[in-house]
Amino acid sequence: MPRDISPAAPRKIATGVHMVGGPDLSDPRDCLSYLVAGSQAQVLIDCGAGPSARRILDMVSGLLDQPLSHLLLTHAHIDHIGGAAEIQRLTGCKVLIHGLDAPVLTSGDPLRSAASWYGLRLETVQPDALLTDDDILQVREDVALRIVHTPGHTPGSVCAWCEVDGHKILFGQDIHGPFSPAFGSDLGQWRSSMQRLLDLEADVLAEGHHGVFRPAAEVAHFIRQQLSAHV
Ligand SMILES: [Zn+2]
Repeated sequence: MPRDISPAAPRKIATGVHMVGGPDLSDPRDCLSYLVAGSQAQVLIDCGAGPSARRILDMVSGLLDQPLSHLLLTHAHIDHIGGAAEIQRLTGCKVLIHGLDAPVLTSGDPLRSAASWYGLRLETVQPDALLTDDDILQVREDVALRIVHTPGHTPGSVCAWCEVDGHKILFGQDIHGPFSPAFGSDLGQWRSSMQRLLDLEADVLAEGHHGVFRPAAEVAHFIRQQLSAHV
């Protein structure tokens, strides 16, 4: 059998929305990363554990006519933020994270960032702006990324959603957990956060490790499944 040696390619989710990183795209330690791009902003959502930063950027630049404008970090775990310093250096993009997780990004705390789990060292980054609930990032005239603060997995976890081609796409990284006192997890807050996500009635869920779910019934089923696994 001939072996497929073609390079990994971005996976299209909707117009201007692609998966550009993940275990079988960039590095086994990476979360799934997504690019949401339009004429007004080109946003990378999470960026893997670090060693694969250039591979992710190669995939991103193959999709863009202009440099990346923003790196949106959903929370401060190394499999999501490890590449942030290098990507900021190489592209000059603005790094965004919620204020409650920002201290992990700026200190490189090996426990809070889970870097010690991965046997990696987190290169610290100064964020350019701190995200808060209901922030809006305009991507193109008819597409805006909206931030939802979803504490639970970590105190400063956020999700983002946008409507593209009539479909509501929810970027919900690590909404499945895991939960640990070392991360500052809070199951009570997490349940309320999951209810907020259910109320969005998204048509597509782009998750951080479990893949992409659609249609709306599958999205709700996945979130409810997580809720019933942590009673
Ligand atoms: Zn995490």
